[in-house]
Amino acid sequence: PPQGAPRQGLAAAVANIRFIICVASGKGGVGKSTTSANLALGLAAQGWRVGLLDADIYGPSAPRLFGLHGKPEVADGKMIPHEAYGVKVMSIGFLVEEDVPMVWRGPMVSQALTQMLGDVAWGPLDALVIDMPPGTGDVQLTLAQQVPMSGAVVVSTPQDIALIDARRAVSMFQRVEAPILGIVENMSYFLCPHCGGRSEIFAHGGARHDAEKLGVPFLGEVPLDIAIRETSDAGRPVVGADPQGEHAAIYLNLAAKV
Ligand code: ADP
Repeated sequence: PPQGAPRQGLAAAVANIRFIICVASGKGGVGKSTTSANLALGLAAQGWRVGLLDADIYGPSAPRLFGLHGKPEVADGKMIPHEAYGVKVMSIGFLVEEDVPMVWRGPMVSQALTQMLGDVAWGPLDALVIDMPPGTGDVQLTLAQQVPMSGAVVVSTPQDIALIDARRAVSMFQRVEAPILGIVENMSYFLCPHCGGRSEIFAHGGARHDAEKLGVPFLGEVPLDIAIRETSDAGRPVVGADPQGEHAAIYLNLAAKV
């Protein structure tokens, strides 16, 4: 599409969305999707009307995370998003077969995202959380330029290498002048369910330190915990599955800061 066109098209589509919050990471596997899902649920728990757009075109995880499958119905030319725990969910994973490899070029990815944003009946929302594709390449930069976002949350593990990548993600959003809402340190520490001992598997505190250095807010630490992994893989993210639990509390606190 011509430069600028998608952005214009998107303006009308997002007119009824108060805040668009992008969740990004420097690389894959750091827990970006898990954080996006639980952040969305945390915002919904505050009484907000929330949508989650899984824009991780290369590895959509919202279907697994929310236990949702199947093509959305279409009404008046718009796709009706699936819903879980009161959150409206849209993912490229609903539109394509699960085992089809997605070897997409940049422009196709942008177009797919534009459609998922613009051709979906989101209805009025207080917040739309966008789970971005991992990394800081051209695709991500284009998305960051096209989406009229209110701010970005960057997810990182404490490891040095992940932190370097997270720094790139922060600088990417700074380039498009999107405010960084903050950095989340995921897999921050491990509490042994047997002995209660605490292990800092990937070292600890790196993200807080980096956030301070970069002058962006630090949003909190999420432990590496089997309950978070199990609930995610079972299609019941922890904030939805156990809203009163200790893990939910961590994400609710995060949502309150965003
Ligand atoms: P990304 O979106 O960055 O690729 P995911 O959110 O898909 O990462 O997480 C990768 C894997 O790690 C998933 O199996 C997920 O359940 C697990 N995971 C993410 N965060 C945690 C955590 N804090 N504790 C335990 N497992 C986690």
